[in-house]
Amino acid sequence: METVAPFIEVIDEIKEAGGEVFKLCFQCGLCDTVCPWNRVRQFSIRKIIRQATFGLTEIDGEDIWRCTTCGNCPRHCPRGVKQIEMGMSLRRIASAYEVFPASVRPARTARASLISEGNPLQFERKKRGDWAKDLSVKTFAEGMEVLYFVGCYLSYDPRMKKDATATANILKKAGINFGILGDKENCCGESIRKTGSEEVFKSLARENIKTFIENGVKKILVSSPHCYHTFKNEYPEFMVNFEVVHASQYVLELMNAGRLELNKEYGKKITYHDPCYLGRHNDIYDAPREALQKIPGLELMEMADSRKNSLCCGGGGGRIWMDTPKSERFSDLRLKQAKEVGAEVLVTACPYCITNFVESRLNLEFDDVLEIKDITEIIQEVI
Ligand code: SF4
Ligand code: SF4
Repeated sequence: METVAPFIEVIDEIKEAGGEVFKLCFQCGLCDTVCPWNRVRQFSIRKIIRQATFGLTEIDGEDIWRCTTCGNCPRHCPRGVKQIEMGMSLRRIASAYEVFPASVRPARTARASLISEGNPLQFERKKRGDWAKDLSVKTFAEGMEVLYFVGCYLSYDPRMKKDATATANILKKAGINFGILGDKENCCGESIRKTGSEEVFKSLARENIKTFIENGVKKILVSSPHCYHTFKNEYPEFMVNFEVVHASQYVLELMNAGRLELNKEYGKKITYHDPCYLGRHNDIYDAPREALQKIPGLELMEMADSRKNSLCCGGGGGRIWMDTPKSERFSDLRLKQAKEVGAEVLVTACPYCITNFVESRLNLEFDDVLEIKDITEIIQEVI
């Protein structure tokens, strides 16, 4: 077993990242009670915190890579311990020493692809804007109302491209003067930062900020809650502030302003899954629900574990790139909750959630039971 104790600078790094805050932990164990991992297997963030306090973390094990940064334990902790930040510092150490267990190695591949191509999916940079070729989407130019920052999954992933198309169609229908950056867009860097690759995050962020400034960007529309979170809460670390709006908020804004008319019915029972980075991390719970409830014929039902208590899909914190055994996927539990409540469609607003849900749908053989949709796909059907 390799621990971090022999490396004195490493102990300093843990302290720096969590400050003295994690020392406040009095081992009550509440964090473990609310952690989604304990619904599928044993996992103790409390134990990791205890070990880190003494510099005795096992940096070569799987445990420091488990946290999906779902945000549930920090909000329950009576002592204000910053579990996510502490976990990131441990991953920074493991990354610095290039210690990755087998299940985490795909994240290293994602990192290499981010460095060379600006996306984690090993696609060519120059093909980033190809999804929009037949849709007559313009390249962003100064003076346009909004920059649509598409994000990596919606630019390249065959399933997620449908959501980029739906968003572009909605914007066109509403008469919005918008553009995209095409191959000048880089990954926002949110998830790679959570895996401990701080320098890669900084480099991606600087590139994006430079492009935004050079192109006179003021308002940014995003489809991913991860882009939303990092533009809103992390890019200000570089002394910049852009107006950021998530697609689920923007469609509501357009409806309320009378710019988006709903002309058709959607006669299905749906349930909405709160992505961690939209809900818990940014308090956006109402906008997507309000937008959905405006659709004629649609019946919205709530699952167990909704809003603040939402059950993580398992994709945050870079876990979207890591291997998770079939028996340990939170997304399977979520699909079962959607089925239990009688929903025909599980709607959400995050590319990671959709990717995990689509895979669970396949594994659980729920093809005839449940559809998985992004909120923009539903809106596109009724305008
Ligand atoms: S909830 Fe907070 S105080 Fe309690 S064990 Fe977890 S980190 Fe420590
Ligand atoms: S942030 Fe979420 S996944 Fe991470 S340890 Fe806390 S409850 Fe578990």
